Amino acid sequence: MTTISSNLQAIQAQIFSVAEDTGRKPSEIVLLAVSKTFSAVQVAEAFSAGQHCFGENYLQEALDKQQQLVHLPIVWHFIGPIQSNKTRAIAESFAWVHSVDRLKVAQRLSEQRPLHLPPLQICVQVNISGEQSKSGVSPEDVLDLVKALVELPNLKLRGLMALPAPSESEAEQLAAFKQVADLQFKLKQQGFDLDTLSMGMSHDFPRAIAAGATIVRVGSAIFGARH
Ligand SMILES: *Cc1c(COP(=O)(O)O)cnc(C)c1O
Repeated sequence: MTTISSNLQAIQAQIFSVAEDTGRKPSEIVLLAVSKTFSAVQVAEAFSAGQHCFGENYLQEALDKQQQLVHLPIVWHFIGPIQSNKTRAIAESFAWVHSVDRLKVAQRLSEQRPLHLPPLQICVQVNISGEQSKSGVSPEDVLDLVKALVELPNLKLRGLMALPAPSESEAEQLAAFKQVADLQFKLKQQGFDLDTLSMGMSHDFPRAIAAGATIVRVGSAIFGARH
């Protein structure tokens, strides 16, 4: 067995056991393999080990890999910062976008989504940690963005994505993820039909699952350290 396939097995086992321990259904948690900086060969290797969803941060790198891997039915997720002049290629080449944090970008993605494709699946990126990161809408502004987003015809709003500031403390990690889950809960109470919480990475995904994550975005624990 290769390193990638044994890493995938170990992570799936961990997802399963954390879900069981925290009263979650393992089947409602999707592992998104974050393949930024890793090669098409490594993605293909993960695919043949049963991994079908891959996340990419950098558009050109992602398009190059997609071209090399057109023969594989991979579900591609865009998870990186979005420049508005890149929305057309994103709308044309991905099934999901996790990093929507402003209406202008959402409007462009909707206008530019090819009509022969299903609606683009969207998460709104929330900036839970305040000043730490420039990406993400602030919790106070989420409701307005969500209200506008659900009116856009070629997008399907699925939920929230978060990338909390790194913390060594597992309690702090859990608290940050719970804030995101709480925001999503409030939006659902207001009538928005949301089923996705994209949160948790290699170092903190067990806490994200404990707080309610339905997609964990794991890179280095699958592919090794990035250089
Ligand atoms: C790189 C990245 C990940 C994966 O990080 P790892 O620490 O390698 O698991 C997850 N989400 C986003 C948005 C990323 O940029």
